[in-house]
Amino acid sequence: MSFIYLDNAATAYPKSDYVLGAVISAFKQCGNGGRGGHSLSVKATETVFACRVALASLFGTEPERVVLTCGATAALNIAIKGLAPERGGVLCSVLEHNAVLRPLYTLEGVRLDFFAPSFSSQKQSLKNAVSAIKEDTRLAVITAASNVCGMRLPVKEICAECRRRGIVTVLDCAQTAGHISVDIRELGADLICLPAHKGLGGPAGMGALIVHPDSRLRFRTLIEGGTGEAARDRYMPPYLPERLEAGSCNILGIAGLAAACEELSLDPEREERLRRMTVEGLRSLDGVQVYGADSDGGYAPLVAFNITSVPSDRATELLEQRGILLRGGLHCAPLAHAALGTGRYGCLRASFGKSNSAEDAEALVDAVRALLKQNTF
Ligand code: PMP
Repeated sequence: MSFIYLDNAATAYPKSDYVLGAVISAFKQCGNGGRGGHSLSVKATETVFACRVALASLFGTEPERVVLTCGATAALNIAIKGLAPERGGVLCSVLEHNAVLRPLYTLEGVRLDFFAPSFSSQKQSLKNAVSAIKEDTRLAVITAASNVCGMRLPVKEICAECRRRGIVTVLDCAQTAGHISVDIRELGADLICLPAHKGLGGPAGMGALIVHPDSRLRFRTLIEGGTGEAARDRYMPPYLPERLEAGSCNILGIAGLAAACEELSLDPEREERLRRMTVEGLRSLDGVQVYGADSDGGYAPLVAFNITSVPSDRATELLEQRGILLRGGLHCAPLAHAALGTGRYGCLRASFGKSNSAEDAEALVDAVRALLKQNTF
């Protein structure tokens, strides 16, 4: 049966043939990168470097300041635990994903200062963020856009405020990378973390930590091991990216990510049109509630909603029977759900990607309308 895929915030689907081709070529042609001088090893080293170059050019840094990781979660853990202060405060929002919250909860000796954003005004969100900054705030880890409702935070302005006060900034760009322009120099963040497999359209299990070109941050290491060089040294090298990349790399993921970056073309206006159409279409139906969709600060292309009186998990089953694939329940961001009023049962999330069209958004609204009409859940 054919279906309409609206779960691109979980992972982009389908991945392109170009990305697949790059993964297959790496499978057939690559040895272990940086681990020898023979031709297969050199091919892998070149593939890794090409990926760093592609990411550096997309996100505004230098290739050696691109740390390749096994996902956004790994990048966030490396950043948070590698730079965690020994005391003082860490600023974050209540919209954070567990990939931020859980590493933060493991930190000892630091206080977490949460701010709640406004769901309508960016200016108010900024105010709330700034008032949560304390004298002893040392680190800020903030999502660029909520993975539950898509709302973007005024991260550029928050980073500027943090920079003035000497606070290190880490942005979780899992839901914006590949959807809108994300340039670390423009954002003014010290670090940004991103996955390969969502907006960028690369393979899962791959991601990157992007370090600002002017950064002089020194990271503690989380994982130690071979780096293919300086093998007599007892400790990991002090320089990037090797300091944070122990062990043989995921050459298939890296090749796929490089290809995905190469063919990426951003079209934020088109994706925003799909989001708006969906919000308006769902709001026109009696018995549907849309969450957090009225901010003046822009969105990642996704919509959070519930069909009143149908638990979201059940609604996903019913929608799949009508050919629509999307996610229900809790989306790994418990405080965001609490702030949106969906803490108990979660919500449906329709999320758009490169392959979706206006017909897909219409089909979702039609399917929800038909479910409401059918009225047997
Ligand atoms: N942050 C946000 C906002 C996310 O949506 C996700 C993925 N759901 C992550 C971090 C973690 O990404 P990954 O699973 O690729 O490590």
